[in-house]
Amino acid sequence: RAKSAGGNRFELADPEADARAITRHGLTTALPTALERGEFFIEYQPLVHLGDGSVRGAEALVRWLHPQHGVLGPDRFIPLAEHTGLIVPLGRWVLEQSVRQAREWRELHGGVEAGPLRINVNLSPCQLTHPGLVQDTVDILERTGVAPDALCLEVTESALIGADDDLLKPLRRLAEMGVDIALDDFGTGYSNLANLRRLPVSILKLDRSFTQSMQQFPADPVDLKIVEGIVSLAHSLDLGVTVEGVETGAQAEQLRILGCDTAQGWYYARPGPPERLHELALVDATG
Ligand code: C2E
Ligand code: MG
Ligand code: MG
Ligand code: MG
Repeated sequence: RAKSAGGNRFELADPEADARAITRHGLTTALPTALERGEFFIEYQPLVHLGDGSVRGAEALVRWLHPQHGVLGPDRFIPLAEHTGLIVPLGRWVLEQSVRQAREWRELHGGVEAGPLRINVNLSPCQLTHPGLVQDTVDILERTGVAPDALCLEVTESALIGADDDLLKPLRRLAEMGVDIALDDFGTGYSNLANLRRLPVSILKLDRSFTQSMQQFPADPVDLKIVEGIVSLAHSLDLGVTVEGVETGAQAEQLRILGCDTAQGWYYARPGPPERLHELALVDATG
């Protein structure tokens, strides 16, 4: 549906694309004030130990309660926040809120025999190159009194592909302090597996596409082999394996048999308010 605009030039007439562009423009303009207005909030999704089913922590997932558009998922605004630079203060806000939340859960759990609840927070590549990352993280942990080993920062595999030492330096510093670094959406990029040794990561988060291929029964034997291979490589490098997007009990069982350590997905719980995580963890601890 291209209309001629004279000569050999064509302009695309795509009303949907226009509408998307307008919305995007509107969101971009509203973004800087959204943080000041308190329009962002965080949902938490439990991370479950595949061996015994216990809740071990949660991933923090940011949402924007937009006054006109309602709740927007991160895929709608994180790219814009990265583009405009708001991602740095927004990311810092998410980190502080999430770490505070983790401390609250720990306090609530003081009386029960629950293992400590850990908190996973996503980092954008822009935050990695921002010079304040390490100091901001140290400050937040000190202010809240949360131990570094209760925090896991998730960085996507694609953000670290071909990363040079400058980019890895802040992650190394954080890892030395005891913060876990997870490689998110692992398996979607084409990282050189040997490269893994160079990265200061302690956890691989297998991408949802692997979990999806465990949906059919019997699962594709090649996919099974690939996951089995990744798990054994990860374990031989002393890395933990978390799987995302677990939607059925059959997937959970298959991934447990394949040796994955931790799982996350709708089968256990959708992302939700912090009280929900607390309830799940508590039920879990008291039987
Ligand atoms: P991610 O880090 O890979 O997070 C997992 C995504 O999978 C989340 O989408 C989650 O809601 C979704 N999910 C969880 N379980 C299931 C399941 O069983 N089935 C399916 N189909 N989906 C499931 P969400 O919340 O829309 O987040 C999308 C992405 O946005 C995240 O992917 C992460 O890369 C990014 N993101 C979220 N919060 C933040 C943040 O605070 N900072 C940054 N930089 N990125 C964030
Ligand atoms: Mg993540
Ligand atoms: Mg992920
Ligand atoms: Mg993902």
